[in-house]
Amino acid sequence: MKPFTYLSPKTVEEAIAFHGQHSETAKYIGGGTDVIVKVKEGWMEPDFLISLKKIKEMSELHKNEATGELSIGAMVTHATLEKSLMIQNEYPIVYDAVSNIGSLQVRNVGTIGGNLINAVPSADGAIPLIALDGVAQLHGADGERSSDVKDLFLAPYKTILKPGEILKKITIPPQAPRTGSAYTKFGRRAAMELPLIGIGVLLTVDEDLETCTRARIVLGVAAPTPMRAVDAEKYLIGKKINENVLIEAGKIAADESKVRDSVRGKAWHRKEMIRVHVKRMGLNCLKKIQKIN
Ligand SMILES: Cc1cc2nc3c(=O)[nH]c(=O)nc-3n(C[C@H](O)[C@H](O)[C@H](O)COP(=O)(O)OP(=O)(O)OC[C@H]3O[C@@H](n4cnc5c(N)ncnc54)[C@H](O)[C@@H]3O)c2cc1C
Repeated sequence: MKPFTYLSPKTVEEAIAFHGQHSETAKYIGGGTDVIVKVKEGWMEPDFLISLKKIKEMSELHKNEATGELSIGAMVTHATLEKSLMIQNEYPIVYDAVSNIGSLQVRNVGTIGGNLINAVPSADGAIPLIALDGVAQLHGADGERSSDVKDLFLAPYKTILKPGEILKKITIPPQAPRTGSAYTKFGRRAAMELPLIGIGVLLTVDEDLETCTRARIVLGVAAPTPMRAVDAEKYLIGKKINENVLIEAGKIAADESKVRDSVRGKAWHRKEMIRVHVKRMGLNCLKKIQKIN
């Protein structure tokens, strides 16, 4: 392994300045579960690793009770999200996704920001944040900007971030009443497995607790980047949610996915899993809504 210098800035501005000084040879590091593997294997040879760990505001998880907005610092670990009662109760789709990432050791250090910026098609953390209409707050030498999480990804391992830009936090707008959400991933093993396919569903229903007013169906490993199945979402709006309607939505979602054959799984199998799990996650959402209301 090539030796490197480890820098620990205490503010976002300091981190950006360090990056500016060493831009060609510097790499940000969150929990390091991806970066360190690549450095050890020699796939990446930075002279400087700029750790974001000591930037306190980036590790904050906070819900503004007055506005209902949730703010998740990019350095918040999967384990912190998993253990949060607020996340478990109010954002079950986030809990479902992060509580099955890797192992306890990976979840203890791996961050939600690193999961997004690594930009693999199988990133479990991306699906719930897209379903919840999350917004990424980016900071760079040119100032601040924001992007919907769904628009962060350009291709596998490629995001819209400019060199030296930092993902500071993700904000989630207030959720409407009578909203339910759920995520599942399907892999060949039960643990320590990147998904063959990941399926997140979020439904909001009317006061009758049946008629769909908002739908999000978000798929991982179904395209080069995480994708929303917008045709299936549109199909659900205005319909009374039941098993048959969700079966049809699953078919539409499978058809609009861009799944392909890979060494890890066949396209036809991935489509079948989308079909089956859109229905299951949809019924799961409905159950959660009806239990609370
Ligand atoms: C054994 C194992 C199992 C795994 N299982 C899963 C799994 O089941 N599901 C899954 O989705 N992932 C899995 N992963 C992948 C990985 O653990 C996660 O993607 C993790 O969330 C990455 O976060 P990190 O903080 O460790 O990222 P790092 O390794 O620190 O960084 C990843 C990338 O993001 C950049 N980066 C990090 N933070 C920021 C920021 N705030 N702003 C700008 N750039 C930033 C880094 O420069 C780097 O390019 C697994 C990894 C391992 C080793």
